[in-house]
Amino acid sequence: MSGKCLFCSIINDDIPADIIAQTESALAFRDINPQASTHVLIIPKKHIASTRELNKGNIEYLSEMALLANKIAEEEGINNNGYRWVINTGDDGGQTVGHIHLHVIGGRQMHWPPG
Ligand code: 5GP
Ligand code: ZN
Repeated sequence: MSGKCLFCSIINDDIPADIIAQTESALAFRDINPQASTHVLIIPKKHIASTRELNKGNIEYLSEMALLANKIAEEEGINNNGYRWVINTGDDGGQTVGHIHLHVIGGRQMHWPPG
């Protein structure tokens, strides 16, 4: 937990979010600025700042996030057509919130390369 972390505030119910699913260690909620009809953020319920902080001691959180992402893809009806997972890291990666999060984006054709 980090005092001023936006996503820790969502975990602690200090600020509202459209939460759609959760497990003991992961939380899923809709992005406030969706880039497609499905745009869900999946976060660990423990403050991990970015992929750079992943290690053998906390990597289970990433597994939990991945499994929750698969469940959400099914529930959102985007599983068959496909979707995109994105994790941005640091300034060059475009990360704007310092609590690791997996974007699950789907419901339209994605393009490559990303901007
Ligand atoms: P990043 O750019 O760090 O990969 O992604 C951060 C994401 O968090 C952005 O897509 C942004 O729209 C979303 N976001 C920022 N603030 C809030 C918020 O208060 N609530 C929700 N639900 N999403 C947020
Ligand atoms: Zn946090």
